[in-house]
Amino acid sequence: MDECLFCRIQKEDSPKVYEDELIVAFNDIAPKAPVHILIIPREHIVSAARITPEHGALLAHLWTKIPVIAKDAGLTDFRVVTNAGSGAGQSVDHLHFHLIGGGPLNIVL
Ligand code: AMP
Ligand code: ZN
Repeated sequence: MDECLFCRIQKEDSPKVYEDELIVAFNDIAPKAPVHILIIPREHIVSAARITPEHGALLAHLWTKIPVIAKDAGLTDFRVVTNAGSGAGQSVDHLHFHLIGGGPLNIVL
């Protein structure tokens, strides 16, 4: 059985903001801003601390989709954050990028 929450969510028939063969985006369950979307690679990468050169094409793809997802969410201004390690606030051990915007961004993720 797959234990990783985000590996499970990407396969679930739950609402997605965006998905393709490499990445999935979905709304954060506890939004910290009016728009708070999580963008993940389908591949289980534990965190940004585990990124290697082999992930280059995947992450380039993910980053090219960020402005598309932001625009579709109505954002002109936005922030992208990734936490690596519990000491930095990471609570789900599957690489994810928080895309936040739509209001004041004086928050900690
Ligand atoms: P981080 O703390 O940086 O690892 O971010 C994990 C994020 O996942 C948090 O913002 C949580 O609110 C979010 N989250 C946890 N469980 C779920 C879920 N089932 N669906 C969507 N987002 C979730
Ligand atoms: Zn995973």
